[in-house]
Amino acid sequence: MTDQSYYSATMRDRTEREALRGEIVADIVVIGGGFTGVNTALELAQRGYSVVLLEAERIGWGATGRNGGQVTGSLSGDTTLRKHLTPRIGAEAAADFVWGMRWQGHDIIRERVARYGIECDLVHGHLHAAWRESDMKELRDFAAEAARRGMGDAVVMLDRDGVQDALETPLYDGGLLNRNNMHLHPLDLCRGEAKAAESLGVRLFEKSPVTRIVPGDHPVVETASGRVTADTVVLCGGAYHRLEAEALGGRLFPAALGNMATEPLPAEEARAINPQNLAVYDTRFVLDYYRLTADRRVLFGGGANYSGKATADIAGELRPALERTFPRLAGIGIDFAWSGQAGIIPNRVPMLGRTGPNIWYAQGYSGHGIATSHIVAGIMAEAVASTMERFDHFASVPHAKNPFGERVGQGLLALGMWWYRLREMAWIR
Ligand SMILES: Cc1cc2nc3c(=O)[nH]c(=O)nc-3n(C[C@H](O)[C@H](O)[C@H](O)COP(=O)(O)OP(=O)(O)OC[C@H]3O[C@@H](n4cnc5c(N)ncnc54)[C@H](O)[C@@H]3O)c2cc1C
Repeated sequence: MTDQSYYSATMRDRTEREALRGEIVADIVVIGGGFTGVNTALELAQRGYSVVLLEAERIGWGATGRNGGQVTGSLSGDTTLRKHLTPRIGAEAAADFVWGMRWQGHDIIRERVARYGIECDLVHGHLHAAWRESDMKELRDFAAEAARRGMGDAVVMLDRDGVQDALETPLYDGGLLNRNNMHLHPLDLCRGEAKAAESLGVRLFEKSPVTRIVPGDHPVVETASGRVTADTVVLCGGAYHRLEAEALGGRLFPAALGNMATEPLPAEEARAINPQNLAVYDTRFVLDYYRLTADRRVLFGGGANYSGKATADIAGELRPALERTFPRLAGIGIDFAWSGQAGIIPNRVPMLGRTGPNIWYAQGYSGHGIATSHIVAGIMAEAVASTMERFDHFASVPHAKNPFGERVGQGLLALGMWWYRLREMAWIR
């Protein structure tokens, strides 16, 4: 087994870019080459700006190239955001805004894949599986809202038998089948989007960790071997950066999430366990999520380590959950196991804001960022180009600063998460 991710082992585009050397000038410099940074750069280039993007490692190296690949309508912090917006714009507009935020990312991804011919194994179909009977109410309420808002047959409730027709598992009391949700190879998507951004004139530099942002009318972004002078900086370093520490430190908690991919399944076995090729996650707070890859591996993730450090034996920790889900896979070989850092925000609302008049940031999707990052990229680009309304909806949400320092704060978060886990373990069948 390797600690390389399934995605980096199988990615189609292996382009390597130069590191930044010397001094250059641009309208905008974007820091971070994940979904948020690449798509912000792309959207800004579409609006006619000259854009430089600096990535510390390789394009898609962070959470973007390590995730479960599930494109769902999960918007983290949705209830808090809706409550926050209600006195500002009214209950109906707040509910519409939050509902739109769930689905616009799907359209952006579909459009980008089609327009730029990005091969990323995109498949429609997702099941939100009820871990216990009492979770069905929340799913039914969601299905009712989807129906009211015209999603029609795309969203369907399944009872226990319906779920067992869709998945060969003894778990789950029912579920919500969503045919608008998708799953895909996220690293291929991001690298395809990076190529698209380059085709629009964005200059991408890899192996270029930014060490400092010098504020000013024309802020300067420094790496070990170069500098970019720009009018605007957009910081999209996710859970991996420590830049702008005075303003941003202690507001985002990195959580190490593990993933693994089995050896490829024979076609008939893959069909038996998941005949509709659905991506799945369950209704717990600390949930299991899984799907089949294009080459018929089970890609399985779950649990979370909120200490900020990766677990040594990811496959060992995940295997019992995989075998509980699909008993016929007991003893199956695991070819890949890896982890990535998700940015957890205590109130779970994505953090968008500015640390100065021309230094912007977007981060923290609390483990649900594929669709959201695509929407946020558009919001950042339109804000930089001076349409602030959607940006302000997020930027006005207060985010408390952890007063205890990174280590103690991370420990408290880990404790809180263990409490949720213990409560949920009481339901283990
Ligand atoms: C294991 C795992 C599973 C997940 N599963 C799902 C899922 O199934 N569905 C879903 O919707 N979401 C999922 N997520 C969340 C999703 O992957 C993220 O929300 C999303 O990818 C965040 O994108 P980003 O561009 O903001 O951050 P990242 O992808 O982390 O990108 C940040 C980039 O910034 C770079 N960087 C950092 N500091 C610097 C610096 N100083 N200079 C230059 N570059 C820098 C990093 O190298 C990195 O490439 C998962 C996350 C993890 C970790």
